[in-house]
Amino acid sequence: MAKAVTLIEGDGIGPEVTQAAKRIVDATGVNIEWELCEAGAKIFKKGLATGVPQETIDSIKRTKVALKGPLETPVGYGEKSANVTLRALFETYANTRPVRQIPGVHTPFNGRNIDFIVVRENVEDLYAGIEYLQTPSVAEGLKLITRKGSEKIIRFAFELARAEGRKKVHCATKANILKLTEGLFKKTFEEISLDYPDIEAVHIIIDNCAHQMVIRPEVFDVIVTTNLHGDIISDLGSGLVGGLGVAPAANIGDDVSIFEAVHGSAPKYTGQNIINPSALIFSAVLMLRHLKEFEAAHQIEQSLLYTLGVEKALPRDLDKTSNLTTTAFTEIVIKNLGKKTDFWASRPYKPLRLASVKTPNDNVPRKDVGVDIYIESLLSPESLGKSLEEVALSSPFSLKMISNRGVQVYPQLEGVTPDTVDHWRARFFIKNDEGFMGDADILDLLKKISKAHHWMHVEKLYEFNHAPSFTKAQGET
Ligand code: NAD
Repeated sequence: MAKAVTLIEGDGIGPEVTQAAKRIVDATGVNIEWELCEAGAKIFKKGLATGVPQETIDSIKRTKVALKGPLETPVGYGEKSANVTLRALFETYANTRPVRQIPGVHTPFNGRNIDFIVVRENVEDLYAGIEYLQTPSVAEGLKLITRKGSEKIIRFAFELARAEGRKKVHCATKANILKLTEGLFKKTFEEISLDYPDIEAVHIIIDNCAHQMVIRPEVFDVIVTTNLHGDIISDLGSGLVGGLGVAPAANIGDDVSIFEAVHGSAPKYTGQNIINPSALIFSAVLMLRHLKEFEAAHQIEQSLLYTLGVEKALPRDLDKTSNLTTTAFTEIVIKNLGKKTDFWASRPYKPLRLASVKTPNDNVPRKDVGVDIYIESLLSPESLGKSLEEVALSSPFSLKMISNRGVQVYPQLEGVTPDTVDHWRARFFIKNDEGFMGDADILDLLKKISKAHHWMHVEKLYEFNHAPSFTKAQGET
């Protein structure tokens, strides 16, 4: 029976790379029924702000698998990225990017035995896209990390290691600085790793991870990380093995999976028939394994390795002197189907098992501690502090401190003269539990503050399980 796959050609060089991959997949004789759909620039231009029309969403819902060319993202204000929309709509929470040395592709890292996978959490973090201009000149973005999202991606990384016979998972975070967000990811990794005693679990700080990827790339097997870090280090990984022309990616979800190249639409090369389609061909290999078409996947992978490594037919990004066109390269890969190489030790690929993760029951003891109120003001720290202390006098709160850009500015720290902006966080603690009514008191405090100041945001402060739900400002005691 034919397996249906949604094919999105995408923008710029997208149609050239998707057609190359489709022709090669079809040439293996595997029975794929392609559903051609649109997304990206053309759709934005028609005025649809998501860049993804309903027909495309319906097709992916039906087929559950998409092979996608790059989609152009409008820069700056207005429309969101159609890529991010697709990932979020279908909750393709795992972005995997294999980084493996490719024969025939010369890099400063040749001979280093590079063979690892970056597993990037794909829907949370700053990519949740929750952003505000809190004052006309101060922008805020929410870095959203959840226990559930972290557990899903971390279990995915360990399951992927098992499915591919890999032995080690590094978890790369910035938990040393971002104690609650990145800290939650690290803590979850430490807990979940106990369920996988057959796999070595190592935590590494993300900046050191970037450093080690260049200095000792051979030590990595699987790296799991949060969305933004993953975005950056997976491109670093692509650079280690020959650049964007050969870097594939898979976005895997419980229901839907989307396969694409790491590269974008490379607009300056559009329609010139000179770009390298290998990245999307490798992505099609990942897709075929996902569809359990292991033989066709192996054939294409071997043919591509033979073409690059034995025949040394290299597109222009890999050999500046080459005048091989995209279509000629595609034909060589088709001709080489059935050829074998021993460049890559073949992995014992098994179907990937996706763990089901429940929303945690957060029925833990919680205690109100206070409230942070964000205020827009051009006053000095001293004047704002005195004013807010006065407001709090007739409330169950006292002003604990004021911070500006994360640094305590009131009471002023000795010897520090901070460079402030018009965006302040005033932290109020409950004076004592008795007499505190909860939301009614917070609303009353806001009402009093709004008589003298402009507030724009409120964050409640708790203790969960006797531990604070918030971090201290720099310098706060
Ligand atoms: P890009 O990846 O499109 O191009 C950067 C450079 O990499 C190109 O100029 C080219 O020199 C090289 N390159 C990329 N792919 C190549 C290939 N297949 N063969 C040979 N050389 C190749 O990155 P960009 O210029 O930053 O982005 C262009 C557009 O693509 C933007 O709108 C961006 O938002 C979008 N984009 C989309 C995706 C996606 O759909 N997943 C990913 C990245 C960027």
